[in-house]
Order: sequence, then C-alpha cells, then structure tokens
Amino acid sequence: RAKTDRRGSHMIFEPAIRQELERRLTLEAELALAVERREFELFYQPQVDLSSGRVIGAEALIRWRHPTRGLVPPGDFIPVVNTSPLSEAVATWVMATACRQAREWQLAGHEIRVGINLSPSQFQSGDLAAFVSKLLTVTGVSPGLIELEVTEDILLHDEPGVLQTFNRLQALGVSLVFDDFGTGYASLSYLKKFPLDGLKIDRSFVRDVLTQADDAAIVGSTVSLSRQLNLSVIAEGIENQATADFLLALGCEHGQGYHFGKPMPAADFERRFLSADNTARQAGAA
Ligand code: C2E
Ligand code: MG
Ligand code: MG
Ligand code: MG
Repeated sequence: RAKTDRRGSHMIFEPAIRQELERRLTLEAELALAVERREFELFYQPQVDLSSGRVIGAEALIRWRHPTRGLVPPGDFIPVVNTSPLSEAVATWVMATACRQAREWQLAGHEIRVGINLSPSQFQSGDLAAFVSKLLTVTGVSPGLIELEVTEDILLHDEPGVLQTFNRLQALGVSLVFDDFGTGYASLSYLKKFPLDGLKIDRSFVRDVLTQADDAAIVGSTVSLSRQLNLSVIAEGIENQATADFLLALGCEHGQGYHFGKPMPAADFERRFLSADNTARQAGAA
C-alpha cells in the first residue's frame, strides 16, 4: 500500500513493499549477469510409455547454477524473468539449447521427443513461428521431435496472434501440448479454441489418484476426453509404480515423474536412459 507524500506527488512505500521491490531489482540484476555468464542449464526429465516402459521423450527444465547459492529451481526465478526485459534472451536460449540437444540425440540414433516450456512473452514479442522455423533449419532437428508446452496463461491472452502462431507452428510440424491441464479456469474452452496435439495432466490430480476418488474421476475423464479429441495424454508427477499401474488402467498412455527419473543433466540422462538397452525396468528401478 502506497501513501501520498504530503509534500508532493511522491509515493512513500510501506517497508514491506520497498523490500519486495528491492529484492526484485537485485534478482533482476543478478539474472542479467547470469545471462552474460551463461549460468543457466537445461535438465531433462524422462517421459515414458506406460505400457512398454520405453522412454519416449524428455522435458527440458531450466536450472540456474548460481555461483554461491547453488542450483536454483525455476520457480524461484522464472516468474521474475518472464516479467522482465530478460525474458526474450532466456527463452531464446532455452529453445536453441533444447533443439540442439534433440538433434544431438537424434544423430546418435535416439528418436527422443524433447518438450520445451514456452513463456507468455514469446507470444507477445517478435515472431515465434519464424524463430522456430529458423531453429529447425539451423539445428537440423526433425520437427516431429519438438514438443512445445503451453500453459493457460499463454492461452488466456486471447490475442488473435496466439491462434495464428499456433497454426503456423503446427504447419512447421512441431507439436503443441497443453501443460498443467485442468488447473486453470477454462481448460475445456481452450481445447475447442486452439489446435492442440496433446494434454499434460497436472501433478495435482495425479499425486493422490490412488486414494482420492475425485482425482481418479478427473484423470479418467480427461483420458477419455483426450481419446475422443484425438489428443495424446501424459500424466505428470508419477512417484510410484502403483500410480503408474493405475494410470495405465485408466487408459493413460504416457507418464512422467520422479518414479521414472527426476530432471537431470543431459549427460546423466544419456547414461541412464539412452544407453544400449534402454528399458522401462531401468527407468523404474533407479
Ligand atoms: P512444469 O512445466 O509443469 O514442469 C514439471 C515440474 O514438475 C518440474 O518442476 C518437475 O521437476 C516437477 N516434477 C516432475 N515430476 C515430479 C514428481 O514426480 N514429483 C514432484 N514433486 N515434482 C515433479 P521444475 O523443474 O521445478 O519446474 C517448475 C516449472 O517451471 C515448470 O513446470 C515450468 O512451468 C517452469 N519452467 C521450467 N523450465 C522452464 C523453461 O525453460 N522455460 C519456462 N518458460 N518455464 C520453465
Ligand atoms: Mg512443462
Ligand atoms: Mg507441467
Ligand atoms: Mg505442472
């Protein structure tokens, strides 16, 4: 809450607000340095086919290797990045790095689909489809191996440009999936409005699916909805074999979660999932 200074139009901020502003400015300055110093890394989390256990993809998840604070998770800095002038630089780096990685794996004989999280700013500035098109050409990766993850905060902007960008991205051959499906306000209406290729069922519905009947009903309905709309479906946040089995019984084809593997550096991902006999059992047993 800001008060008007009696002497003029200056605003005097409550200490808590000033502290929050200072914290944000410090973080923004640090993040600008981090971009320059290349302190970001992409970790990869396996996505598996629940019936065969085969690893079919990897979601790229950003980490900040801070010089003193260690590995910082995206929740601690992506919200600030996304509302700062740095968002474009970071988003560009994420996309380029993930596409290069997918190409590298493809060249090594692993047709692993790589999921990339998009941020709202990527739909506001510049031409995302043209950028993706250029990246596909430069890296040489097959468009079918790139899966762009969008959340409801992107869809709710409701600019005609978003729909047009979606159409152009799909024309390039990359796929678009609805991330954190079911957590927003109008998930179903977006399914009607936007051309999507798949859904990612949010972890909040998966976590207690074994014990909560309402979660099981929501997940089951989402799976049958996706089948009728001809969408792929993946459940996030699978932490044990019983949950994986239950989801498979509900008809869910793909899964992602700590049970199969936490997000990890690319080298670890290769060692664990892309070595000679990459099987489900390996993923589950680790
Ligand atoms: P998301 O896209 O929904 O990613 C899934 C998150 O769930 C990841 O958190 C992952 O580590 C976590 N997760 C996966 N399986 C399990 C599980 O079995 N149990 C539990 N407890 N958690 C699980 P992470 O890496 O901290 O990322 C958080 C969010 O940050 C992401 O949610 C995404 O919205 C955002 N994010 C991450 N990387 C990027 C990026 O490169 N660009 C943008 N714009 N956003 C990103
Ligand atoms: Mg995601
Ligand atoms: Mg998600
Ligand atoms: Mg999520």
